Amino acid sequence: MLKDGDAMRTIDNIKNEQLNLAEKIYIFDTTLRDGEQTPGVALTVEDKIQIAQKLNNLGVDKIEVGFPASSQGEMESARKIRAMDLDSTIVGLSRSLKGDIDKLIDSNLDYVHLFIGTSPLHRDYKLKMSMDEIVSRAADSVEYAKDHGLTVEFSAEDATRTERDYLFRVFDEVVGAGADFLDVPDTVGILTPVLTRDLVSDIKDNFQVPISVHFHNDFGLATANTLTAIECGANQAHVTVNGLGERTGNCSLEELVMTLKSAYGFDLGLDTTRLYSLSTLVGRLTGVKMPVNKPIVGDNAFAHESGIHVHGILNNASTYEPMSPEMVGHSRRIVLGKHTGANALKSKLKEYHIDLDADQFDRVFSEIKSLGDSGKCVTDDDLIAIAVTELASARETPIVLKGLGLSSGGGVSPTATVRLEIDGVEKETASTGVGPIDASLNAIRDLLKGEIDMELEEYNLEAITGGTDALAEVFVISSDSMGNRSRGRSTDQDIVMASIKAVLDSINKLLLIQRSN
Ligand code: MN
Repeated sequence: MLKDGDAMRTIDNIKNEQLNLAEKIYIFDTTLRDGEQTPGVALTVEDKIQIAQKLNNLGVDKIEVGFPASSQGEMESARKIRAMDLDSTIVGLSRSLKGDIDKLIDSNLDYVHLFIGTSPLHRDYKLKMSMDEIVSRAADSVEYAKDHGLTVEFSAEDATRTERDYLFRVFDEVVGAGADFLDVPDTVGILTPVLTRDLVSDIKDNFQVPISVHFHNDFGLATANTLTAIECGANQAHVTVNGLGERTGNCSLEELVMTLKSAYGFDLGLDTTRLYSLSTLVGRLTGVKMPVNKPIVGDNAFAHESGIHVHGILNNASTYEPMSPEMVGHSRRIVLGKHTGANALKSKLKEYHIDLDADQFDRVFSEIKSLGDSGKCVTDDDLIAIAVTELASARETPIVLKGLGLSSGGGVSPTATVRLEIDGVEKETASTGVGPIDASLNAIRDLLKGEIDMELEEYNLEAITGGTDALAEVFVISSDSMGNRSRGRSTDQDIVMASIKAVLDSINKLLLIQRSN
């Protein structure tokens, strides 16, 4: 039997000399800093605290919480997250300016991510500083931060568009000034795997301090490039949850972590079963929803529709999944539609305790296929409705409404008298309630005692046309004690009557499902 992750283990076939993996790879999460720079995203202090806690529980090594010099809120969130005393190291961003470093120290942080632009574009058009000025500003800032007891990670912004010899000169100077980590930002995401290999290998050959990479996703290569950097000995990767960040974002935390774990068998010590709920939380707090086909955390990451695939999945999920949804805390979903096969439909019906005979099954199957062909996606609710209609056509409707009497006003509670035919036997009772609908439902419950234990989960009333003679349409969802659920629907000019008929419609479906077993 295959173990989780084994289904894609191919790395054993690669000769070791082609890989130069560091013994420890640090995961530096910047969701709260670069991720927050996603256009349209702003996180409150409370949001940041919630996300930081979850990142810590996942087990990332470092959390970059923001840019303290940029606002009071940023300082406050840095301070508060630092005070949580998490296992993850808390990092703040800072320009190579003493004032920025002071603000970071005021926020009680002791790890600074210091940066300055080094490429010709940044030198000439942004900083308007000479090469020499930038080198001395960088070295002075590192020295100042070190003098104040900080751990220093130095980033040469736009490193991938910086002349190689100049980049190395800057790195030499900051290492001399005491930098603990050298970070290589691919600020506008222009690297490819082969360019990454050339650059990172060269840096590793020339510098002894740990190397970090910060890669952007402008051409969709951030994860591939980060992985390549790690193959060449990079010691740390900057990542964000859901790949958030400036423009098209950064290397995605979940993609990198799961590739290292599944393809390389490289255990980063993270609790990967928390990835999906972290992704969901970040999606909710930032308002940036993931596309359905987002790797690892998208809605379709473990969804299957085609008959051939579903057949394989039901026998052994590894046939069409490179990892299990449980590994990342996600779940598998079988979707019905034009590609659905008989096996998928059988497993769905079983999930909802609906038992059809062969002819009924064939009719439901072809109805789902034709809905799929007409371009519709068949939801689970649709399936239940179709299957129950099939059951209903083969059997007597268990419960029929035979009469309803209402009285209210004059200081007495609203009272309903309901007469039902239950499996051919007529019964009648009266009940009170807060209003006529409530009174009628109480009477129905009384009459069905011992028959079904029904819970009304949802009740929606809509007027279809205007005016006091408008048609009322009522939708309900009810469930029974076995966990079956069904929808009921009815239209009537009388609101009470529409409500009662909708409820009886859903109860009849529940009874048909119960009796199909
Ligand atoms: Mn960035």
